[in-house]
Amino acid sequence: MITKNIVFDKAAEDGWIDLTVGIRHEMVHFPGDPAVELTQTKHLDRGDPATVSHLSLGVHTGTHVDAPVHFIGGAAGVDEFSIDAMVGPARVIEILGKETCTAQDLAAYDIQAGERLLLRTNNSTRCWNVDAFVEDYAYLDMSAARLLAERKVRMVGIDYLSIGRGPEGPEVHRVLLAAGVVIVEGLDLSRVEAGLYDVVCLPLKILGGDGAPARVAVRPREGPTSRRGGTIAPTGTMHAVVVVPQEKSVRLVERTVPRELGDSEVLLRTIEVGICGTDREIASFEYGTPPPGSTELVIGHESLAEIVEVGPQVNWARPGDLVVPTVRRPCKNLRCIPCRQQQQDFCITGEFSERGIVRADGFLCEYTTEAERFLVPVPRALKGVAVLVEPLSIAAKAAEVFTTIHSRFAFDLPRMRGLVLGAGPVGILAAMVFQAQGIETHVFSREAEDGARADLVRACGADYVSADRTPLDHLSDRIGKMDVIFEAVGVPKVAFGALDALAANGVLILSGVPAERDAVPADLSRWMREIVLKNQVIFGTVNASRSNYEDAIRRLEQFMALFPEAVLSLISRVSIDQATDVLARGRGIKDVVAFAA
Ligand code: BGC
Repeated sequence: MITKNIVFDKAAEDGWIDLTVGIRHEMVHFPGDPAVELTQTKHLDRGDPATVSHLSLGVHTGTHVDAPVHFIGGAAGVDEFSIDAMVGPARVIEILGKETCTAQDLAAYDIQAGERLLLRTNNSTRCWNVDAFVEDYAYLDMSAARLLAERKVRMVGIDYLSIGRGPEGPEVHRVLLAAGVVIVEGLDLSRVEAGLYDVVCLPLKILGGDGAPARVAVRPREGPTSRRGGTIAPTGTMHAVVVVPQEKSVRLVERTVPRELGDSEVLLRTIEVGICGTDREIASFEYGTPPPGSTELVIGHESLAEIVEVGPQVNWARPGDLVVPTVRRPCKNLRCIPCRQQQQDFCITGEFSERGIVRADGFLCEYTTEAERFLVPVPRALKGVAVLVEPLSIAAKAAEVFTTIHSRFAFDLPRMRGLVLGAGPVGILAAMVFQAQGIETHVFSREAEDGARADLVRACGADYVSADRTPLDHLSDRIGKMDVIFEAVGVPKVAFGALDALAANGVLILSGVPAERDAVPADLSRWMREIVLKNQVIFGTVNASRSNYEDAIRRLEQFMALFPEAVLSLISRVSIDQATDVLARGRGIKDVVAFAA
């Protein structure tokens, strides 16, 4: 039986460094938690046919993960964390010589949403080599916890048995857990230096568990200056599709490959760009604004790209990584609190820019540069479908707002019923979101009930209703009342006409942008009566924040497990030569311009 506290004597040759504290009989544990018993009930030495051990321990022993239910009644168990949150790029930050780690200590590190952070304190060298519990361990205070929660980091790890200490310890946990941060405690970081790593953290799948012991290891990532094979710094000219509003033209042109790379920027090679209704409006000169000082706008905002080069100050981005850039960039107005707090999708000044849409060139070109903080990393397994992340982020944001609205009910709800208006790409993706969340889903659109779109909707397990056979004012007779309606047609008559099908306490989500010219007469008194007397909510949603993109990526992974064929059949690919053509006339459900590798 091993009684010493042996922790990773040397890093394995494959580069992995084990950060896990070994589990052993009577090892140190948090005061008040169960003692650790590791005994052998059978042993080969005693003539038994096999050696079998009995292990008894608290789930917060050694290296372990805390689940939301540890400090928040009724919240998720450790089994509900997505593997993706616990495996991927991570940053080790050193906060040495301090007992209390504050927001100020973290401020220097420009912590970004979605990061996995492992905090190396003096604990690593002073706490694990003694058998007794060390009372004066280094910990995070409330200011640090709030900062990490606000920044929406994915994971925070610390190198002793609790991330908080003293009377505010529980609140430190609550703030982090409520923000969905995976807390990893009991790491041994004594052999890792500050820097970039890949982390693997796999807690035991204890159903509903408030925590679970985990095996945690890191491997250094390539340095920012290194390149992966095959990616060569491009030079010269490239193709780009531009809209020139003054001339009312849309053209495939040659532009110079960007040569300047800011310290925190990356050079992206475009893999694919999706075309949507907004692009078609821009290409018919109804919407869109070129960057200041330019007459041309490079179009395209639904992009999937590969990183080719990185500036010296980037944190996690590496050549070869796949990324989806977000669309909206914050306005510069200091009074715009949403933009100042990285939620430019809620910009209040309207002075934001959007890549490929307003005041900033887009992605329908071979190469472009972007600041690392606007990029969302994508798992390689999603390469063939990740171009859908941007349109899916719209439904993901709507789902987030809807959940917030719904949380006002303290009573139990039966299975929800949902209606999607419009079987375009956003409508179908919204239907997939509904289906995957267990909502009984109906899609209402103008295409025939025996058409390809109807088949695709049914392939996701949803019901399809054609406006050909069921006019809008008969919709509720056919499908009944709906708890949630997601509008994705941009036609006011359809959007508000569907209010008749909205159940009491129902929510109508508007995501389509109608042309300004359409003034539609409406029975406002009836609508207002109904909305008030039925506690209904109508909300509009535009653009999406980084966390919605991350959510969209998780959902896309889920869709690929649930209905992969339907997801794949959404996409029709064309080459760059056909881009101006598909901008004028749609071909498939989601037309995608694919660039040659
Ligand atoms: C894009 C959003 C953008 C909106 C308005 C949509 O097509 O997906 O990112 O905010 O257009 O410009």
